[in-house]
Amino acid sequence: MSQPVFRFAPSPNGHLHLGHALSAYLNQAAADALGGRLLLRIENIDQARCTPELERQMLEDLAWLGLRWETPVVRQSEHFHLYAAALEKLERRGLAYRGYLTRSEIKQFVAEQEAAGRPWPRDPDGAPLYPGDAAVLAGDELRRRLESDAPYAVRLDMKAALEQVKGDLTWWEGPSEASADDPSETEWFAGKRVPAEPAAWGDVVLARKDTPTSYHLSVVVDDARQSVTDVLRGRDLYEATSVHRLLQVLLDLPEPRYRHHRLVVDETGRKLSKSSRDASLLDLRLAGMKRTEVLAKVGIHQVEE
Ligand code: GLU
Repeated sequence: MSQPVFRFAPSPNGHLHLGHALSAYLNQAAADALGGRLLLRIENIDQARCTPELERQMLEDLAWLGLRWETPVVRQSEHFHLYAAALEKLERRGLAYRGYLTRSEIKQFVAEQEAAGRPWPRDPDGAPLYPGDAAVLAGDELRRRLESDAPYAVRLDMKAALEQVKGDLTWWEGPSEASADDPSETEWFAGKRVPAEPAAWGDVVLARKDTPTSYHLSVVVDDARQSVTDVLRGRDLYEATSVHRLLQVLLDLPEPRYRHHRLVVDETGRKLSKSSRDASLLDLRLAGMKRTEVLAKVGIHQVEE
């Protein structure tokens, strides 16, 4: 077996919470148990929300948690040209187009459809599928936007993309997490292939006028470029893996193994988030909580150090 390469890939657009602690810990534990490498990737393409100060606090949290990553740390903001090159490849294959509808135009169109008794399909995250500019913009409006260089999103033409995929699209999913915090090689590699269903996402965003990439595009480019063999991340990204597999096939990128771990939820069963007031690792740390106590809160029980 070649040496596994894991990565933990947080976004410094808020403070890390217990869910990140679990994900970071599981990646470290798996890398240790399997003699693998652990990379840290800062996913900061959203330059308006990701700040150097949040990144600094995030690195402090992770070091405090006991994460040991290789340096130099990769920052996505330093590699926009690589994502632009991947986007160009898709454009050359005729698989990308500019969509000019704003979020509120999409919302209004969908509301009108549903009011008329025509349910509109939604993606696995609950967002309406892109209806296409022609369905919404009347008369000369599309031409006017093209000519005035109005804001747009570059979208994947999902139908055309799927026509270019030969054979079944699947990915390797590791068994659920029973032993993810102390995996043996036999258990780790006892996964199965599952079907990828990217059509459920419709014409996903690949880039925007003012941001030359998107999460989906940069994550597949970086996982390949950093030779990541094992993507271990939260269950909330399970469905997104369908899009990642499709982009890997279209861009001729190697395929990592995937494993999606349980999410940390609050007392009401809701997934933790950075934007709500869920306790951050920074708060817990400053309140004097120990690393082992934080891990115990996410179901990882370790002997006191
Ligand atoms: N940057 C993403 C996040 O913080 C994770 C991406 C991934 O693991 O693929 O949710």
